[in-house]
Amino acid sequence: MEDLLNYIMAICSYEKTDYEKLIWLLVNDKELDAYVQEIKFKKLGALGMYIPNDKLLKFNMNKNIRRSYLSYYGISDYYSIEYQRLATINLLLSVLHELYHVEQAKMADDSSDDSLHKVVREGMELGRRSPKKLKLSERMLYRFHYHKVLTERSAEIISTAELLEYRLYGLFTPAELRYLKDQLIGLVNRGYKNGTCPCEKYYSLRNKKDEYNKLDFNDKDYDLLTRLAWGFPVDDKILKDDNLALKLVK
Ligand SMILES: [Zn+2]
Repeated sequence: MEDLLNYIMAICSYEKTDYEKLIWLLVNDKELDAYVQEIKFKKLGALGMYIPNDKLLKFNMNKNIRRSYLSYYGISDYYSIEYQRLATINLLLSVLHELYHVEQAKMADDSSDDSLHKVVREGMELGRRSPKKLKLSERMLYRFHYHKVLTERSAEIISTAELLEYRLYGLFTPAELRYLKDQLIGLVNRGYKNGTCPCEKYYSLRNKKDEYNKLDFNDKDYDLLTRLAWGFPVDDKILKDDNLALKLVK
């Protein structure tokens, strides 16, 4: 996998065959084989999608849709090597993001009854109905509060942390590492405000305050990345730690 990742970054590959190979390697590595049957590359309204009921992963390889995302980061020269590399990084991030959705499906099937598994199952119930069988209020939740949906929040955070771990393969320049670390810290901090945490906010948006109050966030020894990814309550001091990004990745 190290060689393939290095190859993809070195030539900024957008080749479907390279990604298909990479995704199957990752599926195998993460023991998700039972949850992925097919990978499709096609035009979508989103960068990627996982349909748990069909065990289907879909990816959008259209550079234009990715271009609009990247313009947020102030790069205007689409032919520059910086842009090409950042586009590749974002493509890798969306691969890892969708694979974390697969992982969530696997976690939801686990019979464990600790708070993390309860939160994952709540999220997967919503995810399994998305996008076609959602109520209007739920559709609004995805549309306007994407980052508050815990399955999305955790996929954003875990994928970024995981890609940062691949720095050990020598994949990124110092500027790219800074970009990924800034992304991770920004994502992690989102939603921790005025003594509330993202998990509490999510359950209140879902009108499930009672269910939230029943969660015991210390029923297992979750690591810091898991806690922050799923928006569990944490000590304020943790978020102010200057070295937080490094503490979240191996
Ligand atoms: Zn997602």
